[in-house]
Formats: sequence, structure tokens, C-alpha cells
Amino acid sequence: MNYEIKQQFITYNRPKTTLLPVGIVVHETATPGATAQSEYIYFNGGNRKASAHAFVDWMEIIQTIPWTEQAWHAGPTANEKYLGIELCRPSTHDPAKFQEVWNRGVWLFAWLFLNILKKDRVTRDNLMSHAEVSAKWHESDHADPVSYFAEYGKTVDGFRAEVQRKINEMKGETEMVIYKTLEDVPEWGRPVIQKLIGRGSIKGDGQGNITLSEDAVKILVILDREGVLK
Ligand SMILES: [Zn+2]
Repeated sequence: MNYEIKQQFITYNRPKTTLLPVGIVVHETATPGATAQSEYIYFNGGNRKASAHAFVDWMEIIQTIPWTEQAWHAGPTANEKYLGIELCRPSTHDPAKFQEVWNRGVWLFAWLFLNILKKDRVTRDNLMSHAEVSAKWHESDHADPVSYFAEYGKTVDGFRAEVQRKINEMKGETEMVIYKTLEDVPEWGRPVIQKLIGRGSIKGDGQGNITLSEDAVKILVILDREGVLK
């Protein structure tokens, strides 16, 4: 499923310097109960010496700074290279609301990877937690969103894995299985393929290579069951 990214750009807390993002930093707001909308109001309401590109809560995604412009979220080194996304916190422990935040967060990161970073492989260098940024460049002491994730049995590695899965899903990637020879075809499809080779209906390259996809074998098995191949 897709979500909407609502653009509500803030007027304060923007250096207005160009960003060519190489990755994304995942944060959490550490403000229980604060929604994306209330974060927008806060950061649009005065100089906070901080900002982020988007806020994600259990209801919506609000983008507060253009993807091509730096935000102040993780220290100068990371800010020059990374987008910063803040995940909101429910007011109390609330697994259902957390799941909504998580789902929107995973979707937004996958969307940003494909559409803004133009990357389809998540690594520990291009999707970092604020904690990992702090440990790498020592320009901030924040350790989010580790404890927030842990409260709901999640980890940053788990987040990376889910973002990768979502990217694959968005790309419509399914591993295409190819059977090169008759011997490669599984038991369930081999008799039909053997029959078609015997009749000369499947010729392959003449050297024993048939190179059929799993989908093709499935279709032939179905047609055989329907009596079409006799
Ligand atoms: Zn942070």
C-alpha cells in the first residue's frame, strides 16, 4: 500500500543549503504523543536549532524540508550527506500505533531510496540510525531510535531489512527461477517437459539446454492437467 507525503515546508530551521543525499538517518522524536502535525507547528514556530526532512506518525507523513536541502538533524558531517526522518512516539506504550508508524516509516524510506537516492540496496552506510551517526562522527550524543524500537521488539537492523523488502516489493522484484536442463526441472514438472521435449515441441538449443522459467513450467503443467497437451 502507498501513503501520501504531505508537503508542509517550515520557514524556520532551514540552512537553505543544497543537499545531494547519499543516505538517510532514522530518528525518533523522543516526545511521547507529539504528532507529525504538532512537530511541524513546533519547528515552523521559531528557531529550534534543529529540524528534519519529514515526520512520520500513526496517521500521516509530513515533509517539512525539500529533499534537496539540508536539515539539522545529526551533526554537520551527516547533515551534509543525509536526509533525516523522525518517527513519532505514541503518548503511551501502544503497539497498534507503533505498527502504523513503523509501516509508514518503512514505506517512506523505501520510497526515498528508489525515488530520491536512486538506490535499491540498503546498507549500514546508507541507512543509519542517529545512534550509529553519533558513534561514527562523534558530533552528537543522541542514541535514537534504538530504545524506541526495542520497546516494541524491533531493531535498526530489522528496520533496514524491512526497508529492503519493501524496496524489492516496490520494484516488483521476484527472483526468477530458470531451469537450464530437464534435470533441473523439479519432479512436479519433469514428466510434462520430458513429454514435450520427446515430441520436439520444446527444442532448446539442441545441446540439452531448455532454459525454461519456473512460470513457464507451471503453465505447461496446468495446460497438461487441463488435457490441452494430451
Ligand atoms: Zn535523532
